[in-house]
This record gives sequence, structure tokens and C-alpha cells, in this order.
Amino acid sequence: MSKKALGIDIGGTKIYSAIIDENGNFLSEISRNSTPKTLNGIVETLKKIIKENEDKIDVVAFSTAGAVNLENNKVISSTGNLPEGYRTIDFTSLSKQPVFVENDANCAAWAEYKIGAAKNQDNNITITLGTGVGGGVIVNGKLMKGKSGAAGEMHFKMSLEKTRKCTCGAWDCYEIYASGRGLELTAEDILNKKLTTYEIIEGYNQKKPKYYDIMETWQKNIAQGIVGLCDIFDPDCIVLSGSLAQFVEVKPIEEYVSSEIVTTPTKIYRASAGNYSGMIGAALLGIEKISG
Ligand SMILES: [Zn+2]
Repeated sequence: MSKKALGIDIGGTKIYSAIIDENGNFLSEISRNSTPKTLNGIVETLKKIIKENEDKIDVVAFSTAGAVNLENNKVISSTGNLPEGYRTIDFTSLSKQPVFVENDANCAAWAEYKIGAAKNQDNNITITLGTGVGGGVIVNGKLMKGKSGAAGEMHFKMSLEKTRKCTCGAWDCYEIYASGRGLELTAEDILNKKLTTYEIIEGYNQKKPKYYDIMETWQKNIAQGIVGLCDIFDPDCIVLSGSLAQFVEVKPIEEYVSSEIVTTPTKIYRASAGNYSGMIGAALLGIEKISG
């Protein structure tokens, strides 16, 4: 019997859910709920979603912000714009069915590996470019979790100059250069004014002066981090995912990276597992876990 998961993607503004099979196919409509602002509100919303579906599925699989422990039932690091206390949620208590939780970027990476741009490539890294930056590392066909579960976080140093403070509290992490926030700070450096990511991309599309430099600098920063990742992990490919990936020019980054790295050339792809790759990856990982 083929197994089914209730995939639930908990984001800062929306909670998406759907029933997904072991091949990553959707067996139901995707339902959308606004993310409540309180911890209690989130728990009640999740319980409601689960209650409506749990008799039809074999596992409840969550994709969430924040690093997730090795037991895949608890969040162990900060979670951006989710409410205070989110880390205290014991996800296993929300359903009578088996429950599986994984970090959203790790889930996206698994979806790209199983059904997307990195299919059949056993060594790959997915970088999710959005307001922040996430990462998922697949080594020899396995999702790298590290000693605590937090492997693949993109908070390594880009510089020692103490130029930009990252959301994690440290200076000059990859995230504060390669993220949407990083793009905004680069625009501020070049134009001396505050712009949103959207305004920057619009200005670039309208070929406004200096906006090319902003996008170019941002993409150089993205590429610079990829060089380090490729030298460490020697991946078959790097997949660029997340809401900002569509604005990145893949070929120049691939050429730059391949000219800089000490290993053989690495392919760079744009993600192809779709907008719901987090939910799909969680479902595939969850089904794999209960199938032993
Ligand atoms: Zn950081």
C-alpha cells in the first residue's frame, strides 16, 4: 500500500497543507490559512488542520523555519517572525498519527533531490534565497543533519570587517549578504537610500542607473558563498530556490564558481520542485521515516 502524508508548511504569514503521496504528488487541494500571531493560535490552527485529515494519512509532516532536532519533533533554534515560544511546541502531541518535523530549507533541498533540479545527483546543496537565506545539504544521498540537527544553516562569515549585523546576532554572515535583506543593504550602500527588494528589482528591470551594480554586487556575494560551499562539499550541483531565485542569473554564477573552485566544475540550477517544495520535501522525508 502506498503511503500518504499530510504535509504542512508553517511560514511567517501562511500555513499551507495538503495530502501528498510517496512520489510527491498532491492528492488533495492545497489549503491555506493565515499564520496566527500567537503561539496558542498556531497550535489550534495546526490541530484543526490535522483533525480534518489524520484519518486519511499515515504521517503528519511539517516544514518549518528554524533548525529541527535529530528526533525530528522539535525546533531548536530561532524562527524569525514566528511568535515567542514557538520552540516549545511538541509537534508529536498534535496528532495520533506519527509526526515528522524538518527545517524548511532542508525539506526544499530534499524535494529538489527527489523530484526537482537535483534529481539523481547524490551530492547537492539547495540554497533558499528569500527574506533570509536557508540551506540544505545532501551528502551521498543523505540529508546532512550534523550533531544537533542544525547542519546546513547559512551563517558562515563573508568578511571580518564587522560591516553588517546578521539576524542571528553575528557579523557578516552569508545570510546578510545573499538574502533579500542583503540586497536591500547593498542598495543602501550604493544609492544611499532605503529601498525594498521589490523596488530594487523594479528599478533594475527599468534599467535605472546603478541598479545593475546593485544586482551585480548581490549576485557576486551569492556566488562567493557558493565557492566556499563547493570547495567543502564537492557537490554535483547547487540549486537556487526561494522567492528571489527567479531574479538571479544562473549562468554567470556557474561560470564564476567553476573558475574559482579547487574541485571540478559544479552545475548551478534554478529550483524546479515548485512553490510548495517545502511541503513536498517534508512529506517525502516523513514517509521515508515511517517506512523505515
Ligand atoms: Zn547569521
